[in-house]
Amino acid sequence: MRRKLAAGNWKMNGTAASLSEVEALAKAHPAPKSEVLICPPATLVAQMAWKAKGGPVRVGGQDCHAKVSGAHTGDISAAMLKDAGASHVILGHSERRADHGETDAEVRAKAEAALAAGLVAVICLGETEAERDAGKTLGIIGSQLAGSVPEGAAAANTVIAYEPVWAIGTGRTPTLEQISEVHDFLRAELAKRFADSDGFRLLYGGSVKPSNAAEIFATSNVDGALVGGASLKAADFGAILAALDAA
Ligand code: PEP
Repeated sequence: MRRKLAAGNWKMNGTAASLSEVEALAKAHPAPKSEVLICPPATLVAQMAWKAKGGPVRVGGQDCHAKVSGAHTGDISAAMLKDAGASHVILGHSERRADHGETDAEVRAKAEAALAAGLVAVICLGETEAERDAGKTLGIIGSQLAGSVPEGAAAANTVIAYEPVWAIGTGRTPTLEQISEVHDFLRAELAKRFADSDGFRLLYGGSVKPSNAAEIFATSNVDGALVGGASLKAADFGAILAALDAA
């Protein structure tokens, strides 16, 4: 039985004042059935982890370096995130793949570092619109999965997020058939490599909001969501969480 996961990605949004949203979320949903995670910018990880202590909300980073420490100005290691109170880290988000040229091999190395530090790696995959239009979606997803997920991955330490690049922040979502086609494919691909493949959580991400959450959560092999814009406000993210709990 997979425990569902509602994960929020605040991206480069939020200051100390935004921590009130986490308090509001925890107050409105003190004991959700699903696991709840918020990944704020690095500046807020420690403060959010402190505020969230003892409550339902877990805290994660949005990226980490593959090395444990050293001369890497501006970077943060997985061990540092763990030390700040994080339990998870998002890796290979399409914005990092696009803005920072992150390759599958780099994402895999970061995921290895995350697992070594005791963090759960939330590894993101997704095709561009041009790739989908060219009929390459499953090929792209298969190669990103093979290249980004390390051998040490297991259901307990790794979550896969399918995020079509063209659906992120656009208000557009794939059809439910398109989502289930990719999620069923991911489940089958994981089974080729991992003995506990059935236990891996598969999140959908891309313009999830309160109004479309329930139907997405009813789709086969969807175990939760990675939510960007709609995770910034407790009311919206709480509604998505409630839909996940009800699914
Ligand atoms: C994301 O950034 O991971 C994401 C899914 O964003 P949004 O929900 O805003 O589309």
